[in-house]
Amino acid sequence: MKHTDIAKVLQDKAVGQSVTVCGWVRTYRDSAQVGFIELSDGTSFAKLQVVLDKNALKIDPECTKNGASVAVRGKIVKAYRGDGVELNAEAVDLLGKCPPEYPIQKKRITLETLRTIPHLRLRTNTFNAVFKVRSVAAQAVHRYFHERGYYYINTPIITASDCEGAGEMFRITTQSWNAKAGSEEEYDKNDFFGEKAGLSVSGQLEGEVAATAFSKIYTFGPSFRAEKSNTTRHLSEFWHIEPEVAFAELPDIIEIAEEMIKYLIRAVLEECPDEITFFDSFVEKGLKDKLNHVLNSQFAVCDYTEAIKILKEAKEDFRYPVEWGADIQTEHEKYLTEKVYKKPVFVTNYPKEIKSFYMKQNPDGKTVAATDLLVPGIGEIIGCSEREADYDKLVAAIRERGMNLDSYKQYLDLRLFGSVPHSGFGLGFERFVMYVTGMENIRDVTLFPRWVDNIM
Ligand code: ATP
Ligand code: MN
Repeated sequence: MKHTDIAKVLQDKAVGQSVTVCGWVRTYRDSAQVGFIELSDGTSFAKLQVVLDKNALKIDPECTKNGASVAVRGKIVKAYRGDGVELNAEAVDLLGKCPPEYPIQKKRITLETLRTIPHLRLRTNTFNAVFKVRSVAAQAVHRYFHERGYYYINTPIITASDCEGAGEMFRITTQSWNAKAGSEEEYDKNDFFGEKAGLSVSGQLEGEVAATAFSKIYTFGPSFRAEKSNTTRHLSEFWHIEPEVAFAELPDIIEIAEEMIKYLIRAVLEECPDEITFFDSFVEKGLKDKLNHVLNSQFAVCDYTEAIKILKEAKEDFRYPVEWGADIQTEHEKYLTEKVYKKPVFVTNYPKEIKSFYMKQNPDGKTVAATDLLVPGIGEIIGCSEREADYDKLVAAIRERGMNLDSYKQYLDLRLFGSVPHSGFGLGFERFVMYVTGMENIRDVTLFPRWVDNIM
């Protein structure tokens, strides 16, 4: 169909021009003489006001029903109020009628209720704004790395290694539910690949393969985790941005992570002003100030040992105990970013026991060169580390954890043949979208969220 995007009509303000626009009726109101359709085609946050002269134009009443899809031909005129434009309708054609059972009605619907209709919730203001921001941020991710000469690589989704041995991998199989096998080994052997396979929890290990050839790479793809944590920040399927950089040590990768986060925020502020204003008014008061503050300040860096000291001295009732050697829980992360630093903070040099085998061991023998970036309102959004580049130390770390050395032969080869210091990080894309929109539940920033017991 020949038509013009509503975003273009609102932007160009070509008063006097005739156009055809298509979209869904958001609201309709009228008086004796005139009717007003608020029309949205989703191309912009703002809607187009369509003015109907009821005396001159007879239209199908179905065209005024909430949710109905219509095509409107008309003339662009200066808006009655403000400096925008509206459309004086000359013809309104019904494309698809919408009966009153349509669940998206004028009254406010909670996000929780909207989660039960993922196929329709995108037609609300909130979701229109979330997905505009998400799209703009995704483009900015690619731009950021492309402008700096990184190769964009695609790591396998089907994998035989479960990255960290954390046991959160979804298994894949083509065997029937009652396949006969005398043992797990036999079951795996009979399966499609002849060994155990699953969905990747991270592209890092393959990312390192590429970084030790091309120096600077990044991946941007889905990761899958079968963790049962039923929280507002975990999904079973999420999008993962994972740069890997050769010749970068921990301070270098920290600099890159901070620069990238700021680049993404700037892109969203510049390209989504209407959406951010909406979030600022209705979702997180002060969001715009928060984001501008982040742009204008340097992220804090705090050693894990120092963080533990701060948390021990805090006058807070934490549910989980604070002890050197224990993981920093979400409540602790929130305390550090929201009460102590009031901005993003990199916590560095964690005890090696609570971190992965591949992280570079520090000279103290107790900690590793790893860092998590914590932000107010969410907690961890980035997990980052310098990777162990020493063959013997890596072998020892794999053995210590009782992991199978044979499975890591290729990974170890990278340390055998021209090993280099290198570092990388993983940014959870949905968590970033939560941070810049103020949305509090990760299930509301992805199209069809998957979590334990939920696949709609
Ligand atoms: P958390 O402690 O929050 O569970 P993690 O330490 O297990 O996260 P990493 O393995 O470090 O996560 O993954 C890197 C990043 O990927 C995290 O910082 C986070 O932004 C994101 N991430 C991890 N797991 C999930 C998940 N289940 N859903 C959405 N994002 C996730
Ligand atoms: Mn992490």
